[in-house]
Amino acid sequence: MTKLKPATLCVQAGWQPKNGEARVLPIFQSTTFKYDNTEEMADLFDLKKEGYFYTRLQNPTNDAVAQKIAALEGGVGAMLTSSGQAANFYALFNICEAGDHFVTSNEIYGGTYNLFGVTLKKLGIDCTFVNPNASDEEINAAFRPNTKALFGETISNPGCHVLDIERFARIAHSHGVPLIVDNTFPTPVNCRPFEWGADIVTHSTTKYMDGHATQVGGCVVDSGNFDWETCTHKGDSSLFTLHSSLPKFPGLCTPDESYHGLTYTKKFGKMAYTTKLVAQLMRDLGSIPSPHNAFLLNLGLETLHLRMKQHCSNAQRVAEFLSKDPRVAWVHYSGLPTDENYALAQKYLPNGGCGVLAFGLKGDRQTAIRFMDSLKLIAIVTHVADARSCVLHPASHTHRQLSDEQLREAGVAPDLIRLSVGIEDADDILADIKQALDQI
Ligand code: PLP
Repeated sequence: MTKLKPATLCVQAGWQPKNGEARVLPIFQSTTFKYDNTEEMADLFDLKKEGYFYTRLQNPTNDAVAQKIAALEGGVGAMLTSSGQAANFYALFNICEAGDHFVTSNEIYGGTYNLFGVTLKKLGIDCTFVNPNASDEEINAAFRPNTKALFGETISNPGCHVLDIERFARIAHSHGVPLIVDNTFPTPVNCRPFEWGADIVTHSTTKYMDGHATQVGGCVVDSGNFDWETCTHKGDSSLFTLHSSLPKFPGLCTPDESYHGLTYTKKFGKMAYTTKLVAQLMRDLGSIPSPHNAFLLNLGLETLHLRMKQHCSNAQRVAEFLSKDPRVAWVHYSGLPTDENYALAQKYLPNGGCGVLAFGLKGDRQTAIRFMDSLKLIAIVTHVADARSCVLHPASHTHRQLSDEQLREAGVAPDLIRLSVGIEDADDILADIKQALDQI
């Protein structure tokens, strides 16, 4: 069969029932799986054979959904996690250990900013935040001999900055490290970062992929394009030459004592990163989603391609309206030709980005609060990328742990209102915004 298009993958990838099996992905709500003899199960523990034995490591429902997301992103393997936070933690912790360092865009979700700037530091993994608009020279200067990855968000939450993925990939590969991209906001329906050179993609599946606010989840996807032994990306091998005889990624390229001395790159080739994620990290840390949550996520994925279109066309109308209203100080939406990210969006998001936009009102913090409190249809919730329109003031909510300086570093203006435009009728969304603006 020819390569299937994203819409078909949304509906059909993952669960492939055999003759007489359930058409719809079943929920394998079982912690464990039965075998006829001890040796069969021993082979699974030793990774000699593939199969299920304990849901913390693998479960058929979770695997089918992970495979669907891998297919959508064009990756070789994927692993579901219990949240987007866990996905970003696992993606980095799979290749970084105490004493290591990574470089990250500072235009990222507040929770990720805390994870990187506080919690990973406590584990001995240091990071340097860089402005994604900084010059190549400035970003290069953040790299150290112990740097193991570069990280960014395709469309940042909440600033709506569009990442120049190709440039970031080139910079990462020139230092012999992978580019990890959090692709939560555009989803693979609107952008596939592997096509631009990214090596690993992460998701908070809580957002558009689910789309109905029914489960918190995450996913890590591997392109299979990064060679962990030579530290080069397929097609970019001229960018970096490894001079040291010491492996840069020992966790993948040297024997794992907790797996009888098995070396992931030697035994699993392109699947080394995903196998280590599952067999070592998930085994030891255990943040799996329940199969029931994976089932709900799969229902969301089946309509992702339809919903993304509606989110984008509604958000475009709202952004155009806000950009013309005299009470609005500024609007960030990369679909607006006047937006500073418009050119990047034309390149990476030609069919639209997502339904999230950021704007500020003329006035002070109280003006933003009066506007938000006057909304009737659009709800104030700590959520984003949902079928229902919703709104949030990051400085008062998601980013309230950050100081003013950290807010600025994270690209979040104190007056920023994050509006997540849903898939209702755009006329009704606009009417609600208009009446709330009349109250300020
Ligand atoms: N990445 C991005 C871009 C996000 O917006 C979020 C949450 O809003 C996360 C990661 C964290 O995901 P979760 O809330 O599922 O843990």
